Amino acid sequence: MKCFYHPPSEAIGICKFCCKGLCPECAVDLAHGLACKNKCENEVAGMQEMIAKEKIEYDKRDSTLSIYSALYFSVGLAFLIVGTVVRPDFFLFSIGAILTAGASWFYLQRRKYRAPLQGEQGTSQPKDDRK
Ligand SMILES: [Zn+2]
Ligand SMILES: [Zn+2]
Repeated sequence: MKCFYHPPSEAIGICKFCCKGLCPECAVDLAHGLACKNKCENEVAGMQEMIAKEKIEYDKRDSTLSIYSALYFSVGLAFLIVGTVVRPDFFLFSIGAILTAGASWFYLQRRKYRAPLQGEQGTSQPKDDRK
């Protein structure tokens, strides 16, 4: 592939923002991707910032869901045990059932949320050796 700005030069990579071929003279290495010098630098840097922010949000959400899931489950289990063994009571048992159901819901939400990101990680590697 040739450089978009200098057709005689061989491209060493592709701009992450506009997908044009770049020679060493036009390319700026921004750690996770190349950008057109003085053209797409800010755009690519912005994109990378956004991806990094999304990842932080994701991690935050992921740990919040696991904490809720564990909390609901242990409290729900305590109510179930008290409601059936210690002091048989349908009301306590119902609370326990609702809480453990809530815990399963949080757990499922977490798995649902986790699935697409893992798929993205799997496909991001072959993208790099695209010529
Ligand atoms: Zn560009
Ligand atoms: Zn060039």
